[in-house]
Amino acid sequence: MVILLFGPPGSGKGTQSPFITDLLKIPAISTGDMLRAEIKAGTPLGQQASELISAGRLVSDDMVNAMLVNRLNRPDTANGFLLDGYPRTVPQAIFLDRLLEEKGLPKPVIFSLSTPDSVIVERISARRQCPKCGRIYNLLFQPPKKRGRCDDDGTPLIRRKDDTPEVVRERLEEYARLTSPVIQYYANADYHHLSANRPPREVFRDIEEILRPRMNGATA
Ligand code: ADP
Ligand code: AMP
Repeated sequence: MVILLFGPPGSGKGTQSPFITDLLKIPAISTGDMLRAEIKAGTPLGQQASELISAGRLVSDDMVNAMLVNRLNRPDTANGFLLDGYPRTVPQAIFLDRLLEEKGLPKPVIFSLSTPDSVIVERISARRQCPKCGRIYNLLFQPPKKRGRCDDDGTPLIRRKDDTPEVVRERLEEYARLTSPVIQYYANADYHHLSANRPPREVFRDIEEILRPRMNGATA
């Protein structure tokens, strides 16, 4: 199966992603995590993306499309995958459609998570992430067991540079301007809108209910 996790920054895509990939045994691909890895490695792509990400702007379609093509050439994606944070523009959605068709992969199942802007700002201000494994925490709602350390590997947690209230506002504007039209693009697709303003496990229960019947006999 191919799963798209859609929703504004802070709606909980990265939090739901491991629940879904555990259930379906598919890899998770977060374009945001991939771009942060490029920045950390100091690659030319990372250098180009860094300023845009820090300002809360989207990076170019060409850049993320090329990054995705590379990632999907790896064999672990042959039986499906989950995309977190892609597509974020209508041209990216059109590009993905073509790519899936070329690869003989099925049409995606799309989950759109919605959360009020006020909740998003509160969540993102308290977000922390493990730079090693990518696991996401929240100082208010999902704190690590040991202060400031990842439960899984003990790595010191970091706060993302683009998680300040000013940059979050810019990211929400980019979402409204460039990403929300993608919802219309998927109007006739296998599209599911869910309120994410509930505990993570409750959100996942709804996702699982939608996925279970599709799991029987799914080959990709
Ligand atoms: P996204 O990937 O959509 O940007 P995240 O999954 O990183 O969002 O979640 C943003 C912040 O909100 C994180 O700190 C996460 O721990 C927290 N969070 C995610 N889902 C929920 C939820 N359902 N209830 C409360 N906090 C949540
Ligand atoms: P995320 O980790 O999904 O919140 O993404 C962090 C930042 O990476 C975004 O604010 C964008 O600047 C950039 N980014 C991630 N995915 C994409 C995408 N599909 N298209 C354009 N920019 C992206």
